[in-house]
Amino acid sequence: MPDEKPEEVPVKKTAAEKEAQTEDKKIKYSYQEGKGLPPLNLYLHWCKACNICISFCPQKVFDPDRDGRPIVARPEKCTQCAICWLHCPDFVITSNYK
Ligand code: SF4
Ligand code: SF4
Repeated sequence: MPDEKPEEVPVKKTAAEKEAQTEDKKIKYSYQEGKGLPPLNLYLHWCKACNICISFCPQKVFDPDRDGRPIVARPEKCTQCAICWLHCPDFVITSNYK
C-alpha cells in the first residue's frame, strides 16, 4: 500500500484578519498614526523648485506651493522610500527616521 499523505488544506483567513494584516503593513511609522516627528525635514532656503521630489514621490506626499517648492501635504503617506532625498540635487530633504 503506497504512503498516502493527508491532503493539506490551506487555512483561509477571515476578512477581519486580512484587514488587520493590511493595517499592520500600512502603519509602520509613528507619524502614520498621527504621532511623533514628521517624516521629513525640508530646508527650503536651498530649494530651487525643480519639481523632482514632487514628481518622483510614488506616494504623492508633496504638493507644490505657489513658488513650486514642495509642501509635505500628505505626511501619513510617506513610506521613507528615500527617493525624494536621494534625488534632490540641493540636499533640501532629510528624514527624521533614517
Ligand atoms: S521618502 Fe518616498 S514616500 Fe516619502 S516623501 Fe520621499 S519619495 Fe515620497
Ligand atoms: S528636488 Fe529638492 S530642489 Fe527640487 S523641488 Fe524638491 S526640494 Fe526643491
